Amino acid sequence: MESLKPKIAIIGAGNVGRTFAFSLMISGLAREIVLIDKNESLAKGECMDLNHGLSLTQPTKIYAAGFEGCKEADIVVITAGANRKPRQSRTDLVQNNMAIFKDIIPAISKYASSAILLVVSNPADILTYITLKLSGLPSNRVIGSGTVLDTARLKYVICEYCNVNPNNIHAYIIGEHGNTELPVWSNATIVGMDLEMYFSVYAGFGNAKKEMSEIFEKVKKSAHQIIEAKGATCYSIALAMLKITRSIIKNENSILPVSTLITDYYGISDACLSIPSIVNNNGVEQYLKL
Ligand code: NAD
Repeated sequence: MESLKPKIAIIGAGNVGRTFAFSLMISGLAREIVLIDKNESLAKGECMDLNHGLSLTQPTKIYAAGFEGCKEADIVVITAGANRKPRQSRTDLVQNNMAIFKDIIPAISKYASSAILLVVSNPADILTYITLKLSGLPSNRVIGSGTVLDTARLKYVICEYCNVNPNNIHAYIIGEHGNTELPVWSNATIVGMDLEMYFSVYAGFGNAKKEMSEIFEKVKKSAHQIIEAKGATCYSIALAMLKITRSIIKNENSILPVSTLITDYYGISDACLSIPSIVNNNGVEQYLKL
């Protein structure tokens, strides 16, 4: 039977995979969603639970399958792998998750040679690079969720300091989705006004550099705090994934700090890192030099 389009395959039906499936179902963006997990019973159970809500949302075919379910997928979203435990860093997961990727990327490639691959498992930048190499796909079609989530966190924390809608804040975190990520304060604006100036004029901060440093510390600590409190993050990453997925499916040309293969970016080459990039149905159309 032919697939319904757009079709999205999700590998890993854990916290991140199932929450993304739920937000995708509510968004109405996909006509077909397939959940693939080595724990088949988990994937089946999640699909049953999602399907029971279908009369309350929009028509979507949702089912569990093996890797053959990736056939004709427009996007394959990879969330399989271990997640962080309290006090672990993302890079602590590298050996375990790289071994999983050595199994799953060839299995995905076998069935979904024309899909765009979106890598979410951690350490996300290293695994995006590994996916690129193992799949042999052109670099525009292998995307890491990168610092889209960290950037959303940054906007949220900035809005806590100045009480404006986070949608009106333009700011990016770039680099690694991890300990060495960095905020681009020199490009951060509200209504086109430099953030430091906005803080001093409208929020009354005499020394905005102090607040900016506090803001970044809060952003860096936030994943760790959530993991300490409830074991895993799921909602905001699912929404970050939805934003990337929408830009691909709807050919939006949104500028998002996704992880992509960079060449001679201020002297850095042959690594996947997050840089504001134009995302459309080619995947990463272009990354932008700040
Ligand atoms: P989880 O343990 O809840 O789910 C992972 C799922 O992967 C499990 O259901 C497991 O059965 C499945 N899996 C493992 N090996 C598999 C294989 N070979 N084939 C198919 N399925 C397999 O973990 P989670 O909380 O959903 O997190 C998933 C990953 O996402 C972790 O690596 C986590 O660190 C990462 N993550 C990334 C971000 C980000 O911003 N990039 C944010 C949150 C979580």
